Amino acid sequence: MTSQPVSALTPSPQPVRPKAASSPLRRLPKGSWLVALVLVVTAALWASARWDEILALGVWRAASQLATLLAASLAMLAMLTVVRARALEPLFGGLDSAVRLHRRLGLAALLLLVVHVLLLAVDALDVGAPVTDVLVPFSSPAARSLDILVFYGLIALGFLAYDKRLRYERWLLLHRGVGLLFVAGTLHAATEPGTLDAFEPLRTWFVILLLVGAGAWAYRVLLFRRLGPRYAYRVHEAAKRNRDTVDVVMRPVVRRMMYEPGTFVFISVPGFGGQGRELHPFSISSTPAHRDLRVSVRQVGDFTRRLTELQPGDPIDVYGPFGGFTPQRFAGFRRLVWVGAGIGITPFLGMLAFERDNEDFRRIWLYYVARDVAAAPYHHEILNSFLEADSYIDYTLWRTSLSGRLTAERIARDIAPLDDYAVMLCGTPAFVADMAAQFRALGLPRSRIITEDLTFR
Ligand SMILES: Cc1cc2nc3c(=O)[nH]c(=O)nc-3n(C[C@H](O)[C@H](O)[C@H](O)COP(=O)(O)OP(=O)(O)OC[C@H]3O[C@@H](n4cnc5c(N)ncnc54)[C@H](O)[C@@H]3O)c2cc1C
Repeated sequence: MTSQPVSALTPSPQPVRPKAASSPLRRLPKGSWLVALVLVVTAALWASARWDEILALGVWRAASQLATLLAASLAMLAMLTVVRARALEPLFGGLDSAVRLHRRLGLAALLLLVVHVLLLAVDALDVGAPVTDVLVPFSSPAARSLDILVFYGLIALGFLAYDKRLRYERWLLLHRGVGLLFVAGTLHAATEPGTLDAFEPLRTWFVILLLVGAGAWAYRVLLFRRLGPRYAYRVHEAAKRNRDTVDVVMRPVVRRMMYEPGTFVFISVPGFGGQGRELHPFSISSTPAHRDLRVSVRQVGDFTRRLTELQPGDPIDVYGPFGGFTPQRFAGFRRLVWVGAGIGITPFLGMLAFERDNEDFRRIWLYYVARDVAAAPYHHEILNSFLEADSYIDYTLWRTSLSGRLTAERIARDIAPLDDYAVMLCGTPAFVADMAAQFRALGLPRSRIITEDLTFR
């Protein structure tokens, strides 16, 4: 234990190279198999749909048709990834990983849609038809104006969905619009005469995809508040930890939520008037061994700043638990490195408290990265947990004002000669991405790095 950046283990002079990387297939994010399967089925059904006609369509038109079918398939999957259904979490490695997959799938779907229109334009040029029929709505009676307008609408909304400057609630609204437009577009394509209409297996496949996408969208946007895993809690205490951090401790009204340490919940506060319907995600910072549920919150915006207004007894709706950022995922590893930067320490607080009670006796190295002690409101809590937890936990408060940036190499040196550890990282997206890249550069396989970056966009 130390409050200084000094390891309790004897440092080795050379950084240690963790064990060789796993096979490339094992490095694929969870859910990749499902994505690959859906794309292959779509392409195979499309190819067998009307092989002769596909050849007759010409290469540009045929490729353009395939691009749009693949775009629609990816969009439906993208909606499935963020459905917030706990039963689906294992498929994608937790909701947090699913959100990362969602971002990639959404972007890929939009790009494929652009490819679709570009190929149509090339085809028009090829056969000597006016390109404006493909690109400009109402330019001629032959122009498919509705399709063109939906395309531009999707592209505009799609780009805004990747714009991080928008207020979150506005961004969310736009984001939902993209999903709805994709569902409407696919429905339109499935019902009008054409390849989908003509080949029953392909049509059935798209009806299934549509039902999945539309169902996921409806559950997530319209039904989640009513049908989601909701637990009624009441505020027990809302206590400031420092200038901009507050702990909200909640007590179950009847039934407590069971959870794994490291997971997160969405909370909504009905008493917050207009903001009462907002759902905000927070990692659980308490241990499942206790009845009370705690979230530890950095007050960064209008919702989080209001949390200090909470009074004992105020109702809070808790939805969850969600996420795959849990040491359980690394059950096979007996040595874990935990790195929490700033408010990214929160999931580790619950894990640490649980570790104290669960007699698992894993070896853990915990790094709490903060500018200085004043910016580390959980330092003393960790010290206390750590003392009670016995000597298998090694704690370092890494003060950047004193020691500069924490690096993976430094951590590897602290732990050497051991090299069979897994790493859990939590903090801002930039911090997490940088540290994960450093560990990978040291040779740590992706499968041994698990991250949480506290953001959904
Ligand atoms: C899985 C996960 C776990 C998190 N755990 C914690 C934690 O333990 N402690 C903590 O302090 N913060 C945590 N956060 C971040 C926290 O959710 C946001 O800081 C909070 O929602 C900001 O709300 P606001 O209205 O006060 O701020 P705003 O100024 O409105 O938003 C600040 C930023 O927070 C994000 N955000 C805002 N509203 C939401 C929302 N409804 N859902 C998702 N993201 C939103 C957006 O990226 C936004 O740019 C976590 C986020 C995620 C995704």
